Amino acid sequence: MSDLLAQLNPSQRRAVEHFCGPLLVVAGAGSGKTRALTFRIAHLIRNHRVDPENILAVTFTNKAAREMKERVELLYAQQLAELQHGKPLGGLPEFEQKKLRSQVYKQVTKQLWIGTFHSLCARILRYDINKYQDERGRTWQRNFTIMDDSDVQTLIKRIVTQQLNLDDKKFNPRTIRYQISNAKNLGLTPNDYARQQGGYKGKVVAEVYEAYQTALAANNSLDFDDLILIPVRLFQQNESILGYWHSQFHHILVDEYQDTNRIQYELIRLLSTNGETNQAALGWNNRSLFVVGDADQSIYSFRMADFTILLEFQENFGDRLPDDETQTMVKLEENYRSRENILKAANALIEQNSQRIDKVLKATRGAGEEIYCHKADNENEEARFVLNQILGLRRKNPELDWGDFAILYRTNAQSRPFEEALNRCNIPYQVVGGFKFYDRKEIKDALAYLKIIENPSDSISLMRVINTPKRGIGKVTIDNLNNVAQELGCPLWEIINDETSVATVAGRSAGRINQFVGLIQEMRNLKNELSAAKILENVMENSGYLDSLKQLPQSEAEERTRNIDQLYGKAASIAEENEDSSLTTFLSDASLSTDSESDHDETQKISLMSLHAAKGLEFPVVFLVGLEQGLFPHTRSLNDPVALEEERRLCYVGLTRAQEQLFLSYTRERYMWGYREPAVASQFLAELPQELVTSNGRSPAPMPPKQEPKMMSISQKQRSQKRRERQAARTEVAQQKWDIGDRVHHNVFGEGEVIKIFGDDKKTNLAIQFPNLGKKIIDPRVAPMKKL
Ligand code: ATP
Ligand code: MG
Repeated sequence: MSDLLAQLNPSQRRAVEHFCGPLLVVAGAGSGKTRALTFRIAHLIRNHRVDPENILAVTFTNKAAREMKERVELLYAQQLAELQHGKPLGGLPEFEQKKLRSQVYKQVTKQLWIGTFHSLCARILRYDINKYQDERGRTWQRNFTIMDDSDVQTLIKRIVTQQLNLDDKKFNPRTIRYQISNAKNLGLTPNDYARQQGGYKGKVVAEVYEAYQTALAANNSLDFDDLILIPVRLFQQNESILGYWHSQFHHILVDEYQDTNRIQYELIRLLSTNGETNQAALGWNNRSLFVVGDADQSIYSFRMADFTILLEFQENFGDRLPDDETQTMVKLEENYRSRENILKAANALIEQNSQRIDKVLKATRGAGEEIYCHKADNENEEARFVLNQILGLRRKNPELDWGDFAILYRTNAQSRPFEEALNRCNIPYQVVGGFKFYDRKEIKDALAYLKIIENPSDSISLMRVINTPKRGIGKVTIDNLNNVAQELGCPLWEIINDETSVATVAGRSAGRINQFVGLIQEMRNLKNELSAAKILENVMENSGYLDSLKQLPQSEAEERTRNIDQLYGKAASIAEENEDSSLTTFLSDASLSTDSESDHDETQKISLMSLHAAKGLEFPVVFLVGLEQGLFPHTRSLNDPVALEEERRLCYVGLTRAQEQLFLSYTRERYMWGYREPAVASQFLAELPQELVTSNGRSPAPMPPKQEPKMMSISQKQRSQKRRERQAARTEVAQQKWDIGDRVHHNVFGEGEVIKIFGDDKKTNLAIQFPNLGKKIIDPRVAPMKKL
């Protein structure tokens, strides 16, 4: 194991070797936080003989989880090779390597609980959800369905317009859906929500929320937010279940801790403390809580992520000692990822934010190439520029794979011109998190069949396929059946599964319904004998679905059939990965898949993704495109200083994905919202140190004062005003002593109250509660504010 530790710097080593108790690792991008977390898992198992099934590690994406498992497996196999054969793993014959890795998989990786909050919670609920009852007595069964976004949207719309007969112009279902999701992420019930919001609108949203929960329970279905909320509630209401899971997970690790929300925090708190609120009484015998994060990379506030949770770690779990004495916090200060030029630019950008805690992040790699910024005529020319750069770089550096390139953008809609350009040249690429494979009609249809086989109460899936392909069951018949089910308060399946009822309600369609029911029933009977892939094949064949595709125009028919083929392949690979071919595992995995494609040959494809999806990843060459005011920073943030700071963090995340080379681009005009609009370079470009960035002929520096006086003067004005404000604030505020309860006036945020003080005399940060804006962490030395 000493070998393993040799691949870490002293601070990382401290983090990895720390055995029991809480530990927070805070550090900037690319400083090896995720690496420390991964090595720590291997170290716990190897050195401290921790049983892998007692380790719970939370990652931000499924892909990160997969990579972490592979990493642990490799680290462990390397150790084993040395121990058993006295040789490095690579020095063994291939079959020995395979044997070792499969041994490690069985003994170690398979037992580990590594995944996203959602996938880990779904796993817990597959054991225990039947013991949960919500505040209205609603219950769920273990074969629950996980509803996808579009089904949730349809359901909410139906509740708003049909069930509650509301005007969807006044009560936009999409907005309501977002409000319900936020309520869940704060742990609020419909009643809590109504109380908290007050007013008529709040009451209506609460009413929709209530009806929505009833519909979910009736369908034995959950949405993504429930996956986390329900375990938390279950743990809160049932000590013995909490006790069970608390004793299951001795070591809990969380990556990207800055993007946890309150309910996720509560889950981690409950699991690691068993609900004990008295910090002094916490025993950390053979237990640990290890979290890593970077407040500068908090980019999910729209999902209620709250980076004050990270800042409060020391208070909540740690020893609360000053930074230079604490045993419960480690800082990492070296960046191993990016060339110095890239890092300097990123550091300079993020320093423009006022809500932050200063950090050191030193480069360990040479300066590297200059950053290049391209001004394009429009989005098509921007795509051509990127493509030419990629082709040129590959010619010069044949060792670069397609997978070494990433194109990052602010909004998913921006992928189109790049896809077209790449398609034209037959270059392999993948769009991560764009239009998802699982959102395709034929895939949703296929999954709906599987969902009703698994969960008979899932009436939403049942409605989707009862007459797909067309089998002569008319809308009126389906409506009638549905009405009966609703009147009786039972799942639709219960009605159609009863021949008498079918005969009564469905009349002449009865035979066709019975035939459909027979097909589903037959598959359900085989559920425990056949693999998910086989069930899928059977049902697609026997339901007539594949045949029905043949009626479509040829190219469409081919594409859809190919997609269904791919789904068979996915079922097989999910089974292989989990060593479990059951329908339950397949459905859980497919429902939680956030990746557009989970193919494993990613190294051979260029990645296109939004900045939000790029968190935690790294690529030798990064193109950060569409740097335009109103696009990035996003238009919603232009008049909102808090949102603007989040956009800047997002830009910081983007810049710090690059290892060797970074390209930036913006256009002179762009086709947006149906019009061709003139575009203005992003203010973030002006915030980068000009000496680090070169640009194309038409615009030597991103925003030279002569060529673009208007933009520059605005941004210069902003900057110098900011500087002046900071200066004033520094002299005025720096010397002050702060107490909880102090009132302040902030030039931008208005009046607020100090609710927490972080740091020491040398460097203090304040948590200030602003009435309408919530909590903000502010450095009083630089913020434009004064004590009242
Ligand atoms: P982010 O904030 O973006 O999530 P991170 O802090 O998690 O970044 P990692 O992804 O763990 O950083 O590491 C960044 C890169 O630096 C990786 O390629 C990793 O292998 C490498 N690295 C980390 N620590 C070391 C080290 N001690 N020696 C050499 N390389 C390292
Ligand atoms: Mg990381």
